[in-house]
Amino acid sequence: MKGHGVSPGTAVGPLLRMPDPLVEAPAAGPTPVVPGEREADAARIRPAMDAVASDLWARAAHAEGETKEVLEATAMMASDPGLADLAESAVRESGVPAPRAVWDAANTFRDLLAAAGGYVGARSSDVQDVRDRIVARLLGVPAPGLPDPGHPFILVARDLAPADTATMIPARVLAFVTAEGGPTSHTAILARALGIPAVVACPEVLTLAEGTLLAVDGATGEVEVAPGEAAVRSAEGRAARTATRDRRWEGHGGTADGRRVALLANVGDPAGAVAAAAAGAEGVGLFRTELLFLDRGSEPSESEQRESYAEVFAAFAPDRTVVVRTLDAGADKPLPFLHQAPEANPALGVRGLRIGLIRPRVLERQLRAIAAAAEQTGADVWVMAPMVAVASEAVLFAQQVRAAGLRTAGVMVETPSAALTAPAILRAVDFVSIGTNDLAQYTVAADRMSGPLAALNDPWQPALLRLIDMVGRAGEAESKPVGLCGEAAADPALAPVLVGLGTTSLSMSARSIADVGAVLASVTFQECRELARLALDAPDPAGARDVVRRGLPVLTDLAP
Ligand code: PEP
Ligand code: MG
Repeated sequence: MKGHGVSPGTAVGPLLRMPDPLVEAPAAGPTPVVPGEREADAARIRPAMDAVASDLWARAAHAEGETKEVLEATAMMASDPGLADLAESAVRESGVPAPRAVWDAANTFRDLLAAAGGYVGARSSDVQDVRDRIVARLLGVPAPGLPDPGHPFILVARDLAPADTATMIPARVLAFVTAEGGPTSHTAILARALGIPAVVACPEVLTLAEGTLLAVDGATGEVEVAPGEAAVRSAEGRAARTATRDRRWEGHGGTADGRRVALLANVGDPAGAVAAAAAGAEGVGLFRTELLFLDRGSEPSESEQRESYAEVFAAFAPDRTVVVRTLDAGADKPLPFLHQAPEANPALGVRGLRIGLIRPRVLERQLRAIAAAAEQTGADVWVMAPMVAVASEAVLFAQQVRAAGLRTAGVMVETPSAALTAPAILRAVDFVSIGTNDLAQYTVAADRMSGPLAALNDPWQPALLRLIDMVGRAGEAESKPVGLCGEAAADPALAPVLVGLGTTSLSMSARSIADVGAVLASVTFQECRELARLALDAPDPAGARDVVRRGLPVLTDLAP
């Protein structure tokens, strides 16, 4: 089977399906549970709750640190007598079926917690998790969320939410294959950060039975079903070679003739930042703050935000720069606490800075928290806004950043409009960073989450390269930094092209830095210019890739 490889590496293991999410427990139908059966239905609730609680306690016993604490807390919620009383009385008094009674009772608790806000409010999503587990048991369907069979496996799913990917443990999830999803979806990005081989847009995989042995190649997108012994050995050999390439980056990025190109890391949380700093990243080119709050029912307080940001900054303070992006909520990364109204076209809707402009207090609180964390750690912090379309938005954002006491304000170039007006945008801010994931989807009008359209979202598309060229030239004219932090930065063959187009730093998953650094160090800046010209003139992505790869002999050493 062939899908789209989005996170390199190979793995062999048994297939396990991700259970479908529990949308809602069946409501009480037109005929409630008849009085004679209510007692029996109510009596099912406590045993289901106890079974869920003991499963969570057992898992807590094998966990450590924060995971252990969370599991223990949810185990206690699962056997909460208040929850049981409320659900049982709905069955006894009104004939509500047991699963729905638990659903409603848990939602009452969840809403109470969410209204309390702060730390307590943050637990509301745990109640939801417990609710889904108990309801699944009462309905006799598999518990939602990542399966935990007690052995390593290859996860197969229709699609994965970013929150599911974020909780994957590489030792357990050997690789994942999804039927849907695009190469720059957040699930793909997180897989790369975690170093989990991943293939998306492989619909046939849903036809396979649980337990089928699979060999997955996250670079080529190949999924071999029931591989023979030779194929297993070859996949294991490739996995070992990839592991030796997962090496530390030493030194500074740049071309063979000494033109500096800082090689930075994309991070989403303190653990990722510590790992990136240890891997030798020269700084952070994109800190995706929204990833910290994907599961939050209420807005994290300023002090909680400050603490989280400070942990990331501290990993790079005082010398290495951290570029923080303000919340990029909406579209593929909805933040529950913003309670956004549903939209017909969320990727073209109220997302990124647009939320910050409509809800200025949320942005103000975040900027204050960033400023306080910068002060506390002494880090060199730059701040940028996502999803900017016009220069006036950049002007407003820069004013807010400076009002919060932060010195360096920038914006992302993620829309064709921002790229086309790059000179005006650059005059409003201190730097820009090109987000090729979104810039590609808006340029070719193809959803980045779409499997069938994955080929259109190719970072080698000539149209995308031309927009990057416009931004690079504007940066040179204004003498301001032009970073690039989309997934395109992680492609070693593309790196010299991007530098030739005028980008001054590249930010990527820390695992890609060593390969990108090796290729860049093999070419002069003039050669980068020539490769960029060749790529711009190519008729299509495949032609551009071919002509550039031929000009880069060093790539043969890095090929998987
Ligand atoms: C991008 O769009 O390229 C980017 C870096 O932002 P995100 O992937 O988080 O949307
Ligand atoms: Mg983006």
